[in-house]
Amino acid sequence: MPIVRVALDIPLSTLFDYLVGAELSVEVGQRVVVPFGRKQVVGVVMELAESSELTPGRIKSVERVLDDVAPLPSELLKLLRFCSDYYHYALGMTVMSALPLRLRTQEPMVNRQESGYILTASGKRLDMAQFPKRRVVQQRILQALQQGMQSATQLRNLSSSAAANLKILQDAGWIEAQAMPETAALAHRFQETYRLTTEQQQAVDAVKQTSGYACFLLHGITGSGKTEVYVHLMNRVLQGEGQILLLVPEINLTPQLENYFRSRFPETELVSLHSGLSDGERVQKWLRAQSGHARIVLGTRLAVFTPLPKLGLLLVDEEHDASFKQQDGLKYSARDVAIFRASQRGVPIVLGSATPSLESYYNAQIGRYHLLKLAQRAAAQAELPQVHCINVSQIPLREGFSPAMLGALQARLDRKEQSLVFINRRGYAPVLMCTSCGWLSGCANCAGKLVLHMKDRRLRCHHCGHQERVPHACPSCGNVDLQAVGVGTQRIEEALQAHFPEARILRVDRDSTRNKGSWLVMRRQIEAGEIDILVGTQILAKGHDFPNLTLVGVLNPDGALYSMDFRASEKLFAQLAQVAGRAGRAEKPGEVLVQTAFPDHPLYRALRAHDFEAWAQILLSERQAAGFPPFVYQVLLSAEGKRENEVFSFLQQARSAAMELVSSVEVYSVLPSVLPKRANHFRAQLLVQADQRKALQEFLRQWKPSLEALPAQKLRWSLDIDPLEF
Ligand code: ADP
Ligand code: ZN
Ligand code: ZN
Repeated sequence: MPIVRVALDIPLSTLFDYLVGAELSVEVGQRVVVPFGRKQVVGVVMELAESSELTPGRIKSVERVLDDVAPLPSELLKLLRFCSDYYHYALGMTVMSALPLRLRTQEPMVNRQESGYILTASGKRLDMAQFPKRRVVQQRILQALQQGMQSATQLRNLSSSAAANLKILQDAGWIEAQAMPETAALAHRFQETYRLTTEQQQAVDAVKQTSGYACFLLHGITGSGKTEVYVHLMNRVLQGEGQILLLVPEINLTPQLENYFRSRFPETELVSLHSGLSDGERVQKWLRAQSGHARIVLGTRLAVFTPLPKLGLLLVDEEHDASFKQQDGLKYSARDVAIFRASQRGVPIVLGSATPSLESYYNAQIGRYHLLKLAQRAAAQAELPQVHCINVSQIPLREGFSPAMLGALQARLDRKEQSLVFINRRGYAPVLMCTSCGWLSGCANCAGKLVLHMKDRRLRCHHCGHQERVPHACPSCGNVDLQAVGVGTQRIEEALQAHFPEARILRVDRDSTRNKGSWLVMRRQIEAGEIDILVGTQILAKGHDFPNLTLVGVLNPDGALYSMDFRASEKLFAQLAQVAGRAGRAEKPGEVLVQTAFPDHPLYRALRAHDFEAWAQILLSERQAAGFPPFVYQVLLSAEGKRENEVFSFLQQARSAAMELVSSVEVYSVLPSVLPKRANHFRAQLLVQADQRKALQEFLRQWKPSLEALPAQKLRWSLDIDPLEF
């Protein structure tokens, strides 16, 4: 009887063999229900075979084939095999974690057909001259339908509020829904706007001129119009039959970006895959991509595994962003997987950033990637902001502010311009301290400190989520004089409100934007000019265009300069360049003020000169001298458990096993993690690195089996290939 090898969500690096009964027909890539232990589980058929190494009596049979969804294409299965090999993560778990949640269950899929709308008889009789002028979107929908049937997608592309208005028109009995006849719509319309600048045109041409795989690094300063380059490249692919995958960081930006691309390609079906979707929505969109109907797929990191039968172009925006790296389970880098996917498929990929990662920048320098540069802002009037440092090593600060910073804020208030105060720490203060005995608010479960949140008078751990009431007195000595040490967004907001009582201040951080849709409302307020001063974390740094914003003030960034994390200063530069890029994007010139105790540090010099290259060169030579990435390749073995000695003994044994292997890798000592205890678990790690990717991979293939053989019942351990966090 034929056998299938099935990928299951089980932490073993094998596939599982099952018999296929004569009544079933099974294909590679199909989802099946199989017995596993006492349960029934869903898996994906990876291979067909004639025989199995299992003894015939022990092999069980496939129970059901879930054929409501087309089989996963073999190209995607190949990509997942590559990821499993490269990241040394069980194949079954790799495959299952790439699927939308709904497809990991047995629930049948309702294959929703694309619906369209037509006018009803009473809709046709409507007198448009009498129709209320204020209902602009409804008017546009009715006008479109007077030309004949329109798909729901086309109508939704008319406006972000189209869906709500369709419902109103339907309830009024003027329009009705009908199933669309199914054909992938290849026709497309391109909404031209600007004339490309010379630099933009050169970048577009360079990509167009290549055939087959090539990786481009589009290094364009903030405001240089990278999006417009993407749009023109997308247009070319849409003129043919191709699909486009555009990856963006995990940010609240998706709806804005989605609407932007819809407006540029009004007839093209676009789906966006991000963490805000329900499981049902995600799978429906995923299926539109798999069937080839959705021609633009915009998504965060998991979208890199979307099946795209006609994939013709991959774009990774803000390629340096750390959120492309998954930090648990399959610890993949969506950017790196995208590059592999482009080469597998033989199509171009463009990585865009104002501050490329050192890895990508180095690859461009040695010619592995093609460098495309946009050195000018696209809009003729928009100048790069002036960046100045305020030396705060000698002057006392008032609640985190220097007099110069307060003066600059006042000047903007007088001129009715917006300011942004950037501080990358949410909460009121990073820690609460007893002025008498020096007690600090530590977390009972972690090695970290509890952050003071004044709004609800609570102490919160940002690592494990533990929270408690602010104590009335010191738990250690009973003293009632407890002091908030350091500043976070809430404290800055409070200080600004006290100093500028008339100003309209808005705080934007993870706490204030937690509720769905709240950031959308805030953005409207900012755009409508209802806000004078924005206070926020990195949420505010990325991609937004606020035309009336002319001042960016940066508080307390110095910590990253003496961090243990060797990437901290690279990240800081990227963040500051991003946030600085928010100032002066339209006609009014922008200014950036940075409060620092080290104004002569090369990082701030490069920032003032808008000279990413100079900064990157400094970092590259430091990294080369120290033997750090991108000059070496790393793997981090982390372990955590309730007993400290077990954690360390596991890692020591792992280290001994590594030393016994004949290989050219460098094995470091076992060290506690940067956060040595989290949620009552002790954490430690072992770093191994090699000069060549290949040498590291060969080492890992030998090392992994010995790790699996080590006793580790009460521990959790994992490998992180190309780690970003330590
Ligand atoms: P980036 O992503 O590189 O920071 P954007 O793509 O957001 O830059 O573009 C910055 C601004 O310049 C946007 O307002 C955009 O509409 C505008 N823009 C882009 N290309 C052009 C062009 N060729 N001519 C005029 N304005 C442009
Ligand atoms: Zn005390
Ligand atoms: Zn904690």
